Amino acid sequence: MPMQTGTFNSLGGDYEEGTKASLLSAIARNAEELTSGKGWPDGVNDLLETLGRATGVSRVWIFQTVSVTPTHITQNYTFEWAAAPEYAQLGMSMFNMFTNAIDQNEYRELIRSRQRGEWQKTMTRDLEPGYLLDSQTIQNIKSMLTIPIMVDEEWWGTLGFDDCEREYDWDDVEIALLRTAAYLISNAVLRDRLSAKRKQFQILRGITDSAAWSYDFRTGQVWLAAELIHTVPMPVENLNLSLRGGLRHIHPEDRRPLLRAVRAYMDGDKEVFRYDVRLFTDCGDQRWVELIGNLSRGRSGRPEQFAGIAVDIRARKQEEERLRVEAVTDPLTGVLNRRVFWRELQSRLDRSIGYREPLALLILDIDRFKTLNDTHGHVAGDGVLRQFAARCMKAVRAGDVVARLGGDEFVILLPGERCPSARVVAERILKSVAEEPFTVDGRDFQVTASIGLCVHDGSPVAPARILDAADAALYRAKRGGRNRLAEADDCPVG
Ligand code: GH3
Ligand code: MG
Repeated sequence: MPMQTGTFNSLGGDYEEGTKASLLSAIARNAEELTSGKGWPDGVNDLLETLGRATGVSRVWIFQTVSVTPTHITQNYTFEWAAAPEYAQLGMSMFNMFTNAIDQNEYRELIRSRQRGEWQKTMTRDLEPGYLLDSQTIQNIKSMLTIPIMVDEEWWGTLGFDDCEREYDWDDVEIALLRTAAYLISNAVLRDRLSAKRKQFQILRGITDSAAWSYDFRTGQVWLAAELIHTVPMPVENLNLSLRGGLRHIHPEDRRPLLRAVRAYMDGDKEVFRYDVRLFTDCGDQRWVELIGNLSRGRSGRPEQFAGIAVDIRARKQEEERLRVEAVTDPLTGVLNRRVFWRELQSRLDRSIGYREPLALLILDIDRFKTLNDTHGHVAGDGVLRQFAARCMKAVRAGDVVARLGGDEFVILLPGERCPSARVVAERILKSVAEEPFTVDGRDFQVTASIGLCVHDGSPVAPARILDAADAALYRAKRGGRNRLAEADDCPVG
């Protein structure tokens, strides 16, 4: 016999009404729609209709549980299928966002039972006087079956089957089948929530420039949204990678610290994980992102999934870097500022004392700078200060410290330098300043500077003493005719 295939939708409706087979085929037909197709809310309406027709009841309905407090319950009549117009109740004001007091034991028990996920069936003529009897009598109900709709283990609402013409005693298999239908509705609710979340995420993504990622502990797989790695806007696949493959997209310097941070997060009690890393994009560029994630664990407490978003923080990192640079540099010349110079002097001196190494300090001051300013203006003066700083920078090595103390006064720290080599640096600066004019806005300025040098031998001393000694030497250089270097006589002590 050749293979036969088909879809649930093509299953015939030619079963006898009210039979279990017709119920089963009705559920199967709607399962497809609710899990993949129209879903919410059209699929739910269709399901109620097929269930109604297959079971032969007067009415199928859904109450959504809005809130439950110890004293009151608020519900909303959200879906209905009615076999005939006289059974329709949807839209009646008594069922529109209605609140009931939970003041009777019978009613309280009914709610508790639904919260536990249990079904209820009643035959109106068997009911004791009370809430249920009143309610079913008002609605002309002869028998009723209700099945709670549980979403994420919480009572989300109630699926009800009312019979107004007959007294129907539901059997276990029918109830089991209708429970399956209730699960399909739960599924549709979840899908709807998910699609709302997806929309919110898309909005968020537009605002924050972020993309999703996840790590599955069971499979060891990393999932990255395509836009995290691909910079060219074209339709590309999301990435499914091994952990090692995923880590390859992270800057090597950030990998270990990241894993350490993840471990600390998993052992700690923080709700949200946040960590800044540099990602490599497909064209090899680096890009700063903040990984924000959350760990979900299984029932046994074992980690199952670590998932979240990566937010583009290039702007923040640039701003942080700008602030960091601004905090340590002199805004006019770009060399270190006075505050950082003192910090550097202290730490370099500590090191020099610790290792008994020399430390050379030069104070540089531009000659007759005031005259240049007064004659050619502040703008010209600023240009000269900038170029003077640049020539100092050029004369030293990478680990040396160049700072502006203020005005036209600069200072250079040369760690490890003895007198002869410090003298060479000073002479080199004097030469580079005096020999080449400074050009500002097309005008040339002939500039000279004076330098005071103090070389400390690494014995314990207060930092200010070295600066004072160099300053005294500078004063002598000025007095001695300027455009020259003067050295402190003695290495300061104490
Ligand atoms: P000397 O050879 O003795 O050093 O004489 P000088 O004229 O250079 O005297 P001094 O070092 O005291 O003069 C510093 C001048 O620097 C005074 C002030 O007008 C000027 N100055 C201070 N800060 C700035 C600045 O940020 N920009 C400019 N253009 N000038 C400044
Ligand atoms: Mg000066």
